[in-house]
Amino acid sequence: MAPVRARFAPSPTGALHVGSARTALLNWLFVHSPVAEGRGRLLLRIDDTDEERSDPVLEAAILEDLRWLGLDWDDGPVRQSDRTARYEAVLAELPVSRRDDAYEFGGRVIARSDGTALYNLASAVDDIDDAISHVLRGRDHTANTELQMQIIHAMGAEPPVYVHAPLLVFEGGAKVSKRDGEAGGPATIASMRRAGYPPAAICNALALSLADFGVDELMLTLDEMADRFDLDRLHTADSQFDEDKLRWVSGQHIRAMSDQELAAALAERSAPSDSEALLLAARTGGSTLEECATTTRHLIEPPRPDADAVALICDVNTANAFAVLNRLVPSWPVPLADSTSTFNEFKSLLRAQDFKLGPSLRGVRALLTGRTQGVEFPLILATLTNDRITAAQRSLSS
Ligand code: GLU
Repeated sequence: MAPVRARFAPSPTGALHVGSARTALLNWLFVHSPVAEGRGRLLLRIDDTDEERSDPVLEAAILEDLRWLGLDWDDGPVRQSDRTARYEAVLAELPVSRRDDAYEFGGRVIARSDGTALYNLASAVDDIDDAISHVLRGRDHTANTELQMQIIHAMGAEPPVYVHAPLLVFEGGAKVSKRDGEAGGPATIASMRRAGYPPAAICNALALSLADFGVDELMLTLDEMADRFDLDRLHTADSQFDEDKLRWVSGQHIRAMSDQELAAALAERSAPSDSEALLLAARTGGSTLEECATTTRHLIEPPRPDADAVALICDVNTANAFAVLNRLVPSWPVPLADSTSTFNEFKSLLRAQDFKLGPSLRGVRALLTGRTQGVEFPLILATLTNDRITAAQRSLSS
């Protein structure tokens, strides 16, 4: 078999959106899968035949997003705008007709009146010249395939293998399209990055929407997925973009991060990460890195209680329960190793003194973190600073 060569061919006319990233992932997985026998190559081709709408800034952003996702390429980027002479030469050899000032082939327009190639011509020529063995793309391109094959046959060449994957759709069946990729749109890779989804989790969730990997395990790295990837196991139906599943997968990836990786992700968000207890709190305190960062900020920064927390802080029961805790703990923070036993002792004391456990704990949590929900209580004890205790005392007496 000829070496496996695939390509990912974004148009630099919008930000990289999840649908398009999923196509990149499909190609990446394929060239790294067992059928490629370690010799697969992925070409990055920039489809910039639309001069007016193509933007070098968008192109740079797409490249950066792909790298950030870990979807690296072996060859390129090559640009179609650098190959106009070649397309013109092929056009001159094709049995075309002219209508309305444009060049038609097989009943469809393939070049403008000035002889510049449109997507279908450029793509067909490139796939041959770049020795692409497999064109893997979304089902939305099925309508182009016949024409591209005819052009290639007319060039006297053999077409690559075409595979059309089912699409990623939003609820209600709308296709995830370029419009959703508009800057700031919810389905761009850039906005998912800002929201704090780890790149490995995005790839994992997109891959699950694409294929069955033949394992019960849902949390998989890029390499694990590539090892198990098989075109025969692509899903046959379109998949819904499932944010809940993405959040779940993301949480799994965050739990599995090394301390170092997690600390770096928190530092990037100027969130504290300088103790084992804070890292543990972050790790268990969110489904996105942004949520994890917020969790550690709530443990360290001066509390800015939300409305629910204010109501509890005003309750005299909260002040009394806090006094019990403060008498129990000689110095803050409680060592992580002692935090669970300290918490149990605190609960015993509250019970012994006829406090209602639930409301008391919620009140103290609200006082100490400004929130009525959050990480497990022992982690609050293990991250509290003296400053924080002083701030809590001050907010009670004000
Ligand atoms: N530039 C095309 C797109 O973004 C690529 C299509 C193809 O893979 O041939 O949809």
